[in-house]
Parts: sequence; C-alpha cells; structure tokens
Amino acid sequence: MGKTNPYQVAIEQVQKVGEILGLEQDIIDVLTKPKRELTVNFPVKMDDGHVKVFTGYRVQHNFARGPCKGGIRYHPDVSLDEVRALSMWMTWKCATVGLPYGGAKGGVACNPKEMSKGELERMTRRYITEIMPIIGPHVDIPAPDMYTDAQVMAWIMDTYSMHVGYSVPGIVTGKPISVGGSEGREEATSRGITYCVREALTVRNIDRKSSTAAVQGFGNVGWNTARLLKDELGMKVIAVSDSSGGIHAPAGLDPINVYEHKRRTGSVVNFPGAQNITNEELLEIDCTVLVPAAMEEVITADNADRIRARIVAEGANGPTSVQADKILYDKGIMLLPDILCNAGGVTVSYFEWVQDLQFLFWSLAEIKNRLDRVMTYAFARVYATARAKRTDMRTAAYLLAVDDVVKAIRLRGIYP
Ligand code: GLU
Repeated sequence: MGKTNPYQVAIEQVQKVGEILGLEQDIIDVLTKPKRELTVNFPVKMDDGHVKVFTGYRVQHNFARGPCKGGIRYHPDVSLDEVRALSMWMTWKCATVGLPYGGAKGGVACNPKEMSKGELERMTRRYITEIMPIIGPHVDIPAPDMYTDAQVMAWIMDTYSMHVGYSVPGIVTGKPISVGGSEGREEATSRGITYCVREALTVRNIDRKSSTAAVQGFGNVGWNTARLLKDELGMKVIAVSDSSGGIHAPAGLDPINVYEHKRRTGSVVNFPGAQNITNEELLEIDCTVLVPAAMEEVITADNADRIRARIVAEGANGPTSVQADKILYDKGIMLLPDILCNAGGVTVSYFEWVQDLQFLFWSLAEIKNRLDRVMTYAFARVYATARAKRTDMRTAAYLLAVDDVVKAIRLRGIYP
C-alpha cells in the first residue's frame, strides 16, 4: 500500500477534533492552512565543480501563541506537503506541552548520506540565506530534525549572524554548547520519551524492571531512547533497528555496545549475539513498549493488528496512520502520541532559546528537572482528558492543543 499524503492525515486529524469541539468551518479553514509557505530553489557548488540545484521549504503553520518553532530535515523524500504536515504537528506539540510557540518546519530534498561535509555546509548556508526573509529569533526559530545535527545548527547560527553583523544565538536551537547551546538538548527528545513512558507504565500498573522495549530507528532519538529506557527506567531493550535492518536479543542488548558496533560497521545489523530481523519484524515483537523513532507511517492498517506491545511511544513524528490508531485503541494498546511523547526536544529547545535571549545559562540538573515537570504535567493533563472523554491519548492531546490554539486565535481576533 502506498503512503498516504501526510498533509491529508494532518488535515483529517484537525477535522475530527473540530467536530468533537464543535468548531465552525471558518476556524477549521484557518487551522488546516499554513499561514506562510516558502519554497526556494538554490544552486550549490559540489566538490567535483558542478553546480546542483536543491529545493528547500520553510512552512510556518500558525503563530497565534507565539513565534514559530520547528526543525529542519534533510532527506530525499522531503516535499511541500510533508513539511506542511510537520509544521502543523509542531503547532499542536507546542500547545500540548504549553510552550509559547506556534509551529513551523523546514526541509531540503537531498541525500545527506551521499554528500561531503563541505557540500552540506555550503547547502546549509545557502538554504538559510534563502529563507532569511522569514526567520528570526522573534519570528521563527529552526532546530534539528531528521539528518540535521548540532554542527548544521552552528552553521545556521553563523550564517544568520554574518548577515546581520553580530552574533545571534537565539536564531536556532540544538546548537553546540560553545555557541549558545543548552545542556541536555542532544538527548532531550529521548529524555522526554523516557519520562512519558515512565508515567504510562505507572498509570498502567506495569513494573518497569520487568518491562521490555523495542526501538525502531537508531538516530539521535532512537539510540538515546534505547539508552535511557535501560539506564533510567531499568528496562530491558530487546530489539533495535536502523535503515539497514534490525537486531533482536531476548536476553537484552546494551545500547552503548550497539552504538559502538554501528559506529564501526555503519549499521546495527550483525551485532554479535543478536539475531538479525527486518524493520517490519521489529514492530511486531512481543514487548512492553514499542518506540517507533524512525519514519512516518510505519504502523498502518496492514500491520496494526499484529502489534503486541502494551504501550506504543511515538518517538518519530506521524509514525501511526489514522486507521492504525483505531485498531491499536480497540486492542487496548496505549499509544503515546508524537505531539506529547516526543515534545521533550522542542521543550529543551525552548529552554535553550530562553537562555540565549537572557545570556544566562542553566545547569544540566536544572534542565532535567524542568523537562521532567513539563512532561509529567503534560502527560497527566492528556491522560485525564482521555479518561474523562473516554477516548485515546492522541485525540485527548489534540482536543487540548486545538482548543488552546483556537482560544488564542479568538482572543487576538481577525486583523484588521
Ligand atoms: N525537530 C524536533 C521536533 O520535531 C524539534 C523541534 C525544535 O526543537 O524546535 O519536535
């Protein structure tokens, strides 16, 4: 089955919640159309001397609740509709955890795995220059996403600063500490997922130490989640995967050793003592917590029936289709939706931005403490709504988030 258009999924999610909240069509139209969309086609000099034209996007969905915020991804599949969906999800994510931001997202269609560091740097600097008219520390603040990292953020900070003539650390988050980054940002998404899983295990009365986890994806989010679920919750990580395939070891894996193996060989597969499995098989493993932390739409109507985890914690954005949501809910599986579960990343981004604007930096202990408070409170709020409305956690999170954004839109009114 072909992938559904993610923007279509994002629209349907809002329409469904709009019906429950009794929203008028006018406001649904405002919520389902991004406020501002920029497409840029720009040339980059490649190492062999030829010039390649790349296409990039920056979409700002809504800024009723504050400046726009969201990552930049580098991936061959990046399209305008994907970036639109991701920008909408950022709006709901920021509202779900109570950050004073609206949502945005950016992306460049490219294959970073086949590009040299110099090519990536030149592409990044030119892309940022192209989207400069619509970004700024009080307008729209980018961050890392799929295949972009702290180094890319440092180039973004430098490019913007060079244009304005002074250093502006608050233009981007997810930077290295030495250029205004925050303690704990690198692992923040995974730490947020870990806190969310901890809360879910507690309300479901499941003992942490006898719980098992399977994690799909071994990028920044997947690998750190595997590590923290083991180290901080004492769970046994029995399967992990990356884009080349997965590994299964019922006795448990040490994520740090797997990380080393991936660094040496390029992939988690063929890890000594583990059995190789496919990414599809990983999703269907018998475990307590399944963390899809790779691509969109991996749990669909085709495989949802075979998911055996008791909790699905969405590390990726949009890994579960609308039909699969219903199947999982009917099976009694608790799904922790992306806009709640992976919001730790943007939460520490917010902390980083606040620190940058004040030029006053916090300790790691303070970051962890504040993140724990934000995630625990957001989980409790969403869980209470799910119970009260007798619905799933995603619908509950959407009800809260959409309602918060609608309130802001109504209070501000329609200009002029
Ligand atoms: N890309 C991350 C996300 O999808 C983080 C965004 C940010 O920190 O602004 O939530």
